[in-house]
This record gives sequence, C-alpha cells and structure tokens, in this order.
Amino acid sequence: MLQEARDLLKRVYGYDSFRQGQEGIIEAITGGSDTLAILPTGGGKSVCYQIPAMLLTGTTIVVSPLISLMKDQVDALRRVGVPAAFLNSSLGAAEYREVLRAALNGEYKLLYVAPERLDGSMFGELSERMRIPLIAIDEAHCVSQWGHDFRPSYRQLANWIGRMEDRPLVAAFTATATPEVAEDISGMLGLRDPSVFISGFARENLSLSVVTGVEKKRFLTRFLQERPDQSGIIYAATRKETEAVHEELLRQGIPAGKYHGGLGDAERSDAQEKFRFDETRVMVATNAFGMGIDKPNVRFVLHWQMPGDVESYYQEAGRAGRDGEESECVLLFEPQDVQIQRFLIEQGVGDEGRKSVQMSKLYSMMNFARTERCLQQFIVDYFGEKGVQPCGKCGNCLDKSERLDMTSEAQKALSCVGRMKGRFGVIMAAKVLKGSRDKKIIQFGLDRLSTYGLMREWPEREISDWLYWLVAEGYMRMSEGQYPTVSLTAEALPVLEGSKTVVRRKSTSVRRAASNAGA
Ligand code: ADP
Ligand code: ZN
Repeated sequence: MLQEARDLLKRVYGYDSFRQGQEGIIEAITGGSDTLAILPTGGGKSVCYQIPAMLLTGTTIVVSPLISLMKDQVDALRRVGVPAAFLNSSLGAAEYREVLRAALNGEYKLLYVAPERLDGSMFGELSERMRIPLIAIDEAHCVSQWGHDFRPSYRQLANWIGRMEDRPLVAAFTATATPEVAEDISGMLGLRDPSVFISGFARENLSLSVVTGVEKKRFLTRFLQERPDQSGIIYAATRKETEAVHEELLRQGIPAGKYHGGLGDAERSDAQEKFRFDETRVMVATNAFGMGIDKPNVRFVLHWQMPGDVESYYQEAGRAGRDGEESECVLLFEPQDVQIQRFLIEQGVGDEGRKSVQMSKLYSMMNFARTERCLQQFIVDYFGEKGVQPCGKCGNCLDKSERLDMTSEAQKALSCVGRMKGRFGVIMAAKVLKGSRDKKIIQFGLDRLSTYGLMREWPEREISDWLYWLVAEGYMRMSEGQYPTVSLTAEALPVLEGSKTVVRRKSTSVRRAASNAGA
C-alpha cells in the first residue's frame, strides 16, 4: 500500500518524499484505522486524505467549512485526472442536482461537502446509496466547544456519523488542537480507537523572541532600521493601536499599509495587494489580516501586543518565513497588555463556560511571554507534540545573561500560596506577601498567615509578576474559570524542601524589584 501511496505522491503531486507525519497518517487510514491528525497550517493535510481516497474503493466524503478552498482543491484534483466535486452554497440548483446525481452514481473519488449544506435526509441518502470508505473531516476542531471556532453544523454531522449503520472510517484533521481539544474532537466524532498523529509544529526557520520592558516606538524604529529591506507584518490588538502604529511608520517615511475590520472592502484589498507585491514594506494590522494571505517572503512578524491565546499567536507569527528562509517573530510583551485581553474576553460574546476557556488560554499565552524555556519547545509542547529538542535560536535559547538565585523568594511565594489553599487568585496572594491592609485581606483573616508581609520590600506589582513567573515555570498553576485561583504543583515541593534552586534571568522586573528594595 505504501509503495502505491508513494507512487501517487510522485505521479499526482510531483513530490519525491512525504513530509513528516504524512506517511504514518496515510498508512493508518489505508490500514483501516480511525485517525486524528494534528498538523500545522501548510503542513500538508490534504495529501493525507486525498491519497487514501484514491487508494480506497468508493467515494471519500471530505467535510470542509472553507468554500473557496474546496473549489481550489477540486480544480487541482481534476487537473491531474482525479474525479472530484463539491457540494456547497456556491452552486446553482441545477448544478447541485447534477453533482448529487453523479455522486450517487459513484462517479467521484472525492466529494467535498460543506457541513452547513448537509441535512439529515441528504446525509442519509448519500450514506445509503453511495459506497463511502472514508469520511475525512477538515478543520475538525469546529466540532469542539473548547476549540476557538465551534460550529453547530459540525456537531450535527457528528450525530449523523454516529448513527450510520455501516459507518465508514473517519479521519479528523486540524491545525489547532491542544490535548484537551484533541480529546474532545475524538469523543464528539466517536472515533474508534483512533491513531493519533501530532507533528510538524516546530518551524525551523523561525526564531521566536519575547521582548519586555522596552519603549515600544523606539524599539520598532531601531528594529526597522536594522532591517531596511525586509518585509514584515506588525500585529496590534486593536484598530486604534493599528492606526497609531501605522501613522508613526508613515511619519518615519516607511512605506506601510494598514488593515483592520473598520476599513472598507476596497481599502483592505488594496492594502493587501500592495503588500503582496512589495509596494508597501510593512503591514500594520489587527488579526483581521490573515485569511488568504500567502506572501512567501514575510521576513518578520512583530506583535505589538500579546494576542489572547497561543493558537492565534502562532498562527500569526507563522505567517513569517513561508518560503523557508530564516525569519523572525518578535512579541513585545508588557504585563499590562494582559488587561486588554482580559477586557476583550469579559466584553466579548459567549457564555461563562466559553469565557472561562478563553481565560485559561490567555494564561497559557502569558506563560509563553514569561517562560525562560525554549520558546519553540513551549509552543510545540502546547500543541501536544513530543520529543522536539530546544531550537537553539530563539530569544531564550540564545540568552546568556546573568541568572539570579531566587530560591528564597520562590520559597516565600510558594509557601504563601500553599497556605492560601487554592482559594484565592494571584492578586490576593501578592497582597498577602506585600502585607497589604486591603479590606478583603482583613476580612478573610489573611493578615494572620505566617507569610503575611514576607515580601513587603517588593512593590506589589512586582510580586504578582513574580507569582506569574512561577506559574509560567510550572511551580504553580491557575485554575480554570473567569476568576482563576492559584495553587501549587508537584514541582513546588522540592523548592520548598530546599532540594531545588530556582534561578531567574537577571532582567527587567527582578532588577527593578531589587533596586526598589535597595532604595
Ligand atoms: P494544509 O491543508 O495542511 O494547510 P496543504 O494540504 O494545503 O496544507 O499543503 C500545503 C502545501 O504543501 C501545498 O502546496 C502542498 O502541495 C504542499 N505539500 C504537501 N505535501 C507535500 C510533500 N510531501 N512535499 C512537498 N510539498 C508538499
Ligand atoms: Zn529555543
């Protein structure tokens, strides 16, 4: 089977070898196993269901929410002689009937359908009258409420699949799934003992870095001066910030475009075209800029503020270096940027459950901004991929700055949080360590804890920053929920017992705290 798969890869697509992950996925599917495959955008998911579709007898159903992508794929398949078609809302009634007729007649190897277009009776008809060896579900995270793009039509689909008498193989594909979402996808779609593949998240040509404690405008000016010929994207969190950064760049004489949801269609597509053809060098944009940009030579992506979750961050950062050339991803991080995101979540749509999910995603993003581990490894880990070595080129891998022994400060913080028994958040813990007279502290009797005032020489802000750092390094964890509480992890124990030292990069907040303490 695999030799046939390799032949097809060469004959149909013209590629000599499979990418990481592809071969295993194809082998699992053709070997009769339900499959969950998590590959990053651009990782080559389509080959993973198209080749099995060509090898299996009957018509493979491909479920995808992206109508334009469907058409592209079907056109590409037809060009190489693979009979394929799609059913979605872009078809007129006559065309639709014709495709359906041909499909029921078994004329296609692949039939793409948009889940919105399926209703129970149509699905029933297809599944009764066609020979379907495989249902491939693209963007499978849409079935999960814990994902970032839940679609009820996916849930419907899952129900129908579950009720099919002679259920075909099911293969689910997605680019973004944390281990919890992966678990949920598998459960919702009723995958049977699925083979799970997670790979390809590390992008070797990207150097990630996080920059804290700088004057952002000055940093940006320098950054662009040092890269006079490079094209890049600057992502800002709001339209207002986008406008402000854009204006600043124009004032400096830098050819820059802007893109956000408040602009008209014409203005946006004009900005996109100019950027694509290198008439403008820098694009300043909100996260509205993304879908459908496929500019290969983006040399840097600079985040003016932190996005609300690691998925969005990595998707945006990943627009750098599509051509495989060395590229940079810089995140400018200030602890107060977290407030913007928190505000966006609180004001946003969605019920409490959804907000609580978003809040924990925000905390993971904060952990990324603060961690001293390899940044690439942090991300790959976040997506559940195992066994990736430190990248050797991110800001943290390259950081050789002095470390401070912070064991005693860690012990103070950890023992205080331990004594608060997971009932309070970081802000309250910081107040206790500060020895604050805050009403709530007195009311809960927290001023009677033995750790009360243990770090009174530190500014309260720095104490909470320190606590968040301990979270980022895995000594403590935040609970789920909109108002998360903080508690110790098993990692805290050796520190409290004095058998493990805690070192922290001698930088911004620690230095500030230390000098404040000295003053
Ligand atoms: P995804 O759906 O995962 O975002 P695609 O399936 O669109 O990604 O593939 C991204 C690109 O990679 C496409 O241009 C595809 O032709 C190409 N590609 C896929 N597999 C291989 C391979 N084995 N070798 C080289 N290029 C590949
Ligand atoms: Zn690294």
